[in-house]
Amino acid sequence: MIKVYNPADGSVVGEAPDMSQTDVLAAIDRTCAAFPAWSKLLAKERGAKLRRWFELVSADRRAFAELMVKENGKCLSEALGEVAYGLGFIEWYAEESKRVYGDTIPTHAPDAQVIVTKEPVGPTAAITPWNFPFMMITRKIATALAAGCTMIIKPSEETPLTAYKLLAYAREAGIPEGVFEMVTGDPKAIGEAFTGDPRIQKISFTGSTNVGKLLARNSADTLKKMTMELGGNAPFIVFDDVDIDHAVAGLVAAKLRNSGQVCISPNRIYVQDAIYDTFAATLKVAIETIRVEQGLQEDFVVGPLINQSAVNKVDALVADAVKHGATVLSGGELAKPGSLFYKPTILTDVPDDAQVRHTEIFGPVLPLYRFDTEEEVVRRANDSEYGLVAYAFTPDLGRAFRMSRDIKAGMVVVNSGSVGTESVPFGGVKQSGYGREGGYYGIQEYVSVKYTLMAGLDR
Ligand code: ADP
Repeated sequence: MIKVYNPADGSVVGEAPDMSQTDVLAAIDRTCAAFPAWSKLLAKERGAKLRRWFELVSADRRAFAELMVKENGKCLSEALGEVAYGLGFIEWYAEESKRVYGDTIPTHAPDAQVIVTKEPVGPTAAITPWNFPFMMITRKIATALAAGCTMIIKPSEETPLTAYKLLAYAREAGIPEGVFEMVTGDPKAIGEAFTGDPRIQKISFTGSTNVGKLLARNSADTLKKMTMELGGNAPFIVFDDVDIDHAVAGLVAAKLRNSGQVCISPNRIYVQDAIYDTFAATLKVAIETIRVEQGLQEDFVVGPLINQSAVNKVDALVADAVKHGATVLSGGELAKPGSLFYKPTILTDVPDDAQVRHTEIFGPVLPLYRFDTEEEVVRRANDSEYGLVAYAFTPDLGRAFRMSRDIKAGMVVVNSGSVGTESVPFGGVKQSGYGREGGYYGIQEYVSVKYTLMAGLDR
C-alpha cells in the first residue's frame, strides 16, 4: 500500500493501493472492454449518470473538503472552493453530452449530401497532479464520459484519497467498472502501460513539462491524441494607472491560493516605476495580515507546502535571488507551525539573471520587477519558454485589449486574479502545452470528426 501523509504534521491520513503491472493491465483491459457499450448509450443517458454523480458528491462536499485539507494541506475555504469548481465540470458536461453537434456542408455534387458527425475517440487515459486533488479528476473524467469515451486515471500518489472517494461515488451513481477506472502505484510503470497500449486513443496529462514531454515521446509510436497542461511562469503586470488596493487584492488571491502551488500562480510581478514602492508597501501589509497555519477553519490561511523537496526548492530560489541582489521585503523563511510551512515572501528589485525569474516557483514567493514602458513589459513578459496565463491590471481599455492581443499565452486575465471556471477553455501555448480543458472546447478534444458523403441520391 502507498501511505498518504498530512503535510501539516506528517501524520498518516490513509493508504492507496500499490498496484502491480498485472493489476494495471487488467484495469486498462476493463477500460477498453467498456468502450463499445458506453459509447452507444444515448448521450442523455450518459448525462443522467453524470448528473447523479454530481448530486451524490454535492451532498458530501464538506467531507471531500476536509479530506483535501488533510492530504493536500490547502485550507478548508479553499478546499470547499475547489469542490465547487470541480463539481462545476460534472454539472456542465452532464448537460453538454447532449450537445455534441455535427454539421452538414453544402454539397459539391448534385446527387449527394455531406454530413459531419463527431464520434468519441475511444478508451482514454489521464494522469493528474496533487495540487487540485478533486478538480483535476472531474475536469478530465466528466469531459471524457460525456463525449462517450471511457477513461482510466492515475491520480498523484501524494493525494489519491480524494480521487478514490470520487470513484466510489461514481460507482454509486451507476458509472460502471471499465467506464471509469483508477490505478495507483509506480508512476513510471503506469505511464508506460498507458502510452504503450495501442488501444488507448488519447492521454490527458496535467503536470510538469518534463513528464509531459516524456509521455508525448512514449506515445509517438501509437500516435495518441494528447492534451498537455504543463508548467507556467505567469507574468502579473501592474500599470501605474491602477487602483493599487484592487491590484494587490487580485495578486494576493491569485498567488497565495494553495500556497502558490498552482500552475497559473503569478510568478513574475511587473510593477510600473511610478507606483513600484507604494505597491510593494501595500502588498507587504496585505501579506503580513494572513496567517500561516494548518487550514481546518473557514477563514483563509496559508497552509504547508506539499513535501520537503518543495520547501527546499523555494528556499534555494529565495537564497539565489538574494545572492543576485534582490531584497527580502517580507518572509524569506520557514513559518512556525511545522517543517513544511513557508512564510509568504516578497522579493523586491529582483534581477533578471536570478533563477526565480526563469523557474516555476510553486511556492508563496512574490518576486517584484520594475518596468518603465508598455512596450518593454510586453517584451519581458513574453520572454519565457512558457505561455499558460498572463495577468494585467489597468483601467485603460485600449491597453487592456493590447495585453490580450500582444501577450503570448493561452489565457490573459485583465483586472482579476481569478482564471478558472468550468465553461472556459483552460490551457497554454509554447512549453505550457496544448489542448484545452473546460466548456465547449474541452469536449472537442475527446471526439474525432467523421465526414460522410452520401452520394448517388438520384440513382
Ligand atoms: P509535479 O511536480 O506537479 O508533481 P509531475 O509531473 O512530477 O509534477 O507529476 C504529475 C503527475 O505525473 C503525478 O501523477 C505523477 O505521479 C506523474 N508522474 C511523474 N513521473 C511520471 C512518469 N515518469 N510517468 C508517468 N507519470 C509520471
